[in-house]
Amino acid sequence: MKDRYKREISYMRISLTDRCNFRCLYCMPADGIEKCSHDDIISLEEVEKIVRAAATLGIKKIRLTGGEPLVRKGIVSLCEKISKIPGIEEICLTTNGALFKDYAKALKDAGVGRVNFSLDTLDPEKFKKISRGGDLKQTLAAIDEAISLGFKVKINAVLIGGFNIDDIEKLVDYTKDHDIQVRFIELMKMGQTINWDQKNFVSNNIVLEKLPDLEEVKTDGVAKVYKMPGHKGTVGLISPISSCFCQDCNRIRLTADGKLKPCLHSNREISLKGLDGDDLLAALKEGIYDKDKSHHLVDGTTDTKRFMNTIGG
Ligand code: SAM
Ligand code: SF4
Repeated sequence: MKDRYKREISYMRISLTDRCNFRCLYCMPADGIEKCSHDDIISLEEVEKIVRAAATLGIKKIRLTGGEPLVRKGIVSLCEKISKIPGIEEICLTTNGALFKDYAKALKDAGVGRVNFSLDTLDPEKFKKISRGGDLKQTLAAIDEAISLGFKVKINAVLIGGFNIDDIEKLVDYTKDHDIQVRFIELMKMGQTINWDQKNFVSNNIVLEKLPDLEEVKTDGVAKVYKMPGHKGTVGLISPISSCFCQDCNRIRLTADGKLKPCLHSNREISLKGLDGDDLLAALKEGIYDKDKSHHLVDGTTDTKRFMNTIGG
């Protein structure tokens, strides 16, 4: 289905939980946030019902995210069910990787094809610091496991001025022998980062300044894709601030408490919990059609009051 600006909306990102086993500095406060109560969290049966309805409107790609999606019990059987829904062509996962090895084979068998791992640095101490306690070895082992099982793998690195600019080269080096995409994402000012100093917000142009040999190869959804000559993998730049991609946005989001969120940065939400049949379809259609034209991040403002872990990135 197209929205009022003629964008074809085919991608739904679902936050399965607001809970997480990490506490990344830019995503959640150290002591967590007030968690949604069990009654507020959307049930997996409702998620399946919403995906089934959304598929009839042209949603083809589903990404499960969070919080940390792998802390949600029942995720494997949800994937099995979603993979059988007519019209759904792809199931993807975004994870910090800590629990991935325990689920990898089952997720593959359940129809998950792509996995994005969050990895902002290859330095164990810095990794521990940014995630407030994460173990780099676990995430790297998870990435190896995903590659060996045949998942299509991407690494998401959020660029933070004063923290991981020195890691850009090492992260790009990782694509030398790994046929994966390392994607640099501009830090967004919302939730946990709303009062961060402007020096922490860095344009993705810095990647091209540091590595002038990168050759642009294509545009892939929201990412501009580059390649270092001779490397097996690629480098993606996702630049919501320095190079707004709203005009090509094809996504809607479902929050962990069951709200349809047409735009990441808008406060407009439509509750889908408890809706069935025509009511559910009407709510989905309304959300898609009235999707916001653009975010307001260029001038540094976001409308959403939410923290990233309730939306899923
Ligand atoms: N826990 C999973 C993970 O970390 O991959 C999935 C959820 S996490 C909220 C999804 C993505 O959002 C991660 O890649 C994370 O780096 C990104 N993210 C969180 N806060 C962000 C912010 N303020 N700006 C840009 N990206 C952010
Ligand atoms: Fe958890 Fe992902 Fe947020 Fe880090 S970015 S705190 S891993 S939800």
